Amino acid sequence: TKWVYGFGNGSAEGAADMRNLLGGKGANLAEMSSLGLPVPPGFTITTEVCTYYYDNEKSYPPALADEVAAAMDKVGETTGRKFGDPDRPLLVSVRSGARASMPGMMDTVLNLGLSDGTVEAIARESGDARFAYDSYRRFIQMYSDVVLGVDNHEFEDILEEYKERNDLTLDTEITAEAWQGIIEKFKALVEAELGKPFPQDPQEQLWGAIGAVFSSWMTPRAVTYRRLHDLPASWGTAVNVQAMVFGNMGENSATGVAFTRNPSTGENSLYGEFLVNAQGEDVVAGIRTPQDITEKARVEAGSSNPSLEALMPEAFAEFRSYCTRLERHYKDMQDLEFTIEQGKLWMLQTRAGKRTAKAALKIAVDMVAEGMLEEEEAVFRVEPGALDQLLHPTIDPKAERDILSTGLPASPGAASGAIVFTSDAAEQAKGDGRKVILVRVETSPEDIHGMHAAEGILTSRGGMTSHAAVVARGMGKPCVAGAGGLRIDYRNQVINVGGRQLKEGDIITIDGATGQILAGEVAMLQPTLSGDFGTLMGWADRGRRMTVRTNAETPQDAKVAREFGAEGIGLCRTEHMFFEGDRILAVREMILAETEEGRRAALAKLLPMQRQDFTDLFEIMHGLPVTIRLLDPPLHEFLPKTDEELKDVATAMGADPELLRDRALSLEEFNPMLGHRGCRLLVSYPEIAEMQARAIFEAAVAAAKATGAPVVPEIMVPLVGLKGELDLVRSSIEAMAKAVIEETGAELTYQVGTMVELPRAALKAAEIAESAEFFSFGTNDLTQTTFGISRDDAASFLGTYQTKGILEQDPFVSLDPEGVGELIKIGVERGRSTRPDIKLGICGEHGGDPSSITFCESVDLDYVSCSPYRVPIARLAAAQAAL
Ligand code: PEP
Ligand code: MG
Repeated sequence: TKWVYGFGNGSAEGAADMRNLLGGKGANLAEMSSLGLPVPPGFTITTEVCTYYYDNEKSYPPALADEVAAAMDKVGETTGRKFGDPDRPLLVSVRSGARASMPGMMDTVLNLGLSDGTVEAIARESGDARFAYDSYRRFIQMYSDVVLGVDNHEFEDILEEYKERNDLTLDTEITAEAWQGIIEKFKALVEAELGKPFPQDPQEQLWGAIGAVFSSWMTPRAVTYRRLHDLPASWGTAVNVQAMVFGNMGENSATGVAFTRNPSTGENSLYGEFLVNAQGEDVVAGIRTPQDITEKARVEAGSSNPSLEALMPEAFAEFRSYCTRLERHYKDMQDLEFTIEQGKLWMLQTRAGKRTAKAALKIAVDMVAEGMLEEEEAVFRVEPGALDQLLHPTIDPKAERDILSTGLPASPGAASGAIVFTSDAAEQAKGDGRKVILVRVETSPEDIHGMHAAEGILTSRGGMTSHAAVVARGMGKPCVAGAGGLRIDYRNQVINVGGRQLKEGDIITIDGATGQILAGEVAMLQPTLSGDFGTLMGWADRGRRMTVRTNAETPQDAKVAREFGAEGIGLCRTEHMFFEGDRILAVREMILAETEEGRRAALAKLLPMQRQDFTDLFEIMHGLPVTIRLLDPPLHEFLPKTDEELKDVATAMGADPELLRDRALSLEEFNPMLGHRGCRLLVSYPEIAEMQARAIFEAAVAAAKATGAPVVPEIMVPLVGLKGELDLVRSSIEAMAKAVIEETGAELTYQVGTMVELPRAALKAAEIAESAEFFSFGTNDLTQTTFGISRDDAASFLGTYQTKGILEQDPFVSLDPEGVGELIKIGVERGRSTRPDIKLGICGEHGGDPSSITFCESVDLDYVSCSPYRVPIARLAAAQAAL
């Protein structure tokens, strides 16, 4: 096995397609180097070393040391330097680089190789002692924090104290001699904390840093990030060791990051930020507010800080040419890092840029127009889940705005909530059902859980590429960053802004489109979808095989779903139609009635309501298929709970409240989800199915007359495990159809089918299909019954299963392809064996989950059905699965 791959000087041992082995960063550094771009020479230690490391009690493959030494010598040759050399020392950076980018999750060490000896050589050589000692102190700080575990704040305290004592505000005011004094204090701190001196041997430093990168793969924050993004731990990270270039070598040096297109809007113009005389991490860390790269962006931002284009026109022109070249080469928008060392440009990274859904759509559609992509390729450039972002609300332009301050519009969408200052407080509030805005000076990877819990994120420091901005965009959360007008006082839990003071719990609104921060809650508008959305969805629809339906029972939901492109209703949960107003009363009457007569009286009250509901749905769906499921009420959701509720039902029924209480108690079940629900209720009380069937058929006749579009209702029987259950309910439905046909003289076509949501139904699908014209896989219950895990109680322990690696994903969110999936496969095969043209769909929550949709395509279902807002996601995911 080869463990180390070198690059630099116009060639490389690796390439872009070796991302699994070299990680994203390493693979792209190799590719850029082969393309002849100026990349500082270096080498990548493969992800297989990481795997080996964890499989072998944190040890390395025996051959690794020699391979690293040889690769280091090669870097030395290319640069005319030598690692650890007292005269021409080679300094390197050591960075992580996994297959998928994990922004800010992993550790980096810069300036490695500096020591008491080599720092003097660097000072001599650069003729800039201040630069040399500043780099050395940065190295001690970073290395101690990342590798030795000495908290960075302790170093910052020493620095702050020095500045205060000498009346200085900026680091740049500190002289070379002063840095030397501070370095002594830093080293003393390390020795006091660790009981041994800061390592002076470059080899020891190197292996310490390599070990730290591999260890960082398993830090809690990295584990959390992988869990949130469904990345397997088995991938491992690579380590990139690369010759240092310095953006902090004076005023003709700089460092920056850029996107080849605007990552927020998708606009086709170079977009980025840089700092003069700074080192890479300064830009991302958001400590100084960066300047725009292009004149265009500077002018648009109304900034008086000069652009890179104006300051260093030659380096800028060269950089712009690489941007164009890399974008064409990768056929995708790139996110780049660069450094200019004394006027010479160096490329440090390129990768596919993270972008908002809006930008992803625009870029995909534009690139087709530019001839860079085919339509089919473009369909893959938008992640289905990201479409969620487009459905975010924006602030009503007509609303009054009480503007507190303005920051950078870092991530789109608007959100209102109460101010909280810590991520723990955000998480707590979310648990209590309160909406909050997380307000921080800046965010760090430790804030991921709080950012997830918050409606939006607001920071007072940092640019468009700061941690807060990048992470919020990835999450699709509104974010306003770098709002310098806010003075955030953590200690007193207040924000001072323009003479006003806000405290924790006060409601604010942030507008990720303009960067405005507004007092109070502000009216929002629901989003409308852009032309790009329609274009891309059109391409997706052309590539799609499965139909996409929606789960809807209200006219409002049905309309929204139609606008999003739903091609019918795959699940109308009739029990959900009874939650509102006094309908629940009639349902309770029916449930609590002791006699058939009593039940029929209650059902008679429900009939006209149901008929109207179904007529509305049929009319909205205008000839598209509509699947109506007969009543499936887990009884505990419907029984009266309070005395008040009990009294209401008693009055309505003219019954004795005390007797009714006894009846209610007698209906209580130990396991309601496995109890008297679904078709079991219909078997006990056929009059329920009769009433619903009548309502459906009468509505079908009425709607067909009103719209002129034929209505073919699909009546679905829930929770069937035995063919006999279905047969019994089916016979009531057929009898009712006959009756309605006779009464109305209308023609009536309909289908009867069943949910497959119990393992027995899947196993006996061949037999059940004799009585079912369609199956709809109810994967919520099928997951519950296959795992034997209560869907209502799973949340309290499944999280632990994920952190302990027993389950990679929550099976109630993302279909378990092996277990539940196996049952679906069996159901499909056996169902088709008796009825080859049986219609097959899915209507559990999984019907809107992209990876589950991929599974549905693989087992050849006819349609998926999901909640209205997920319909676009399902359309795109179905297309990607089919293409
Ligand atoms: C299911 O079980 O997957 C389903 C769609 O039905 P419900 O969620 O209503 O039980
Ligand atoms: Mg169910």
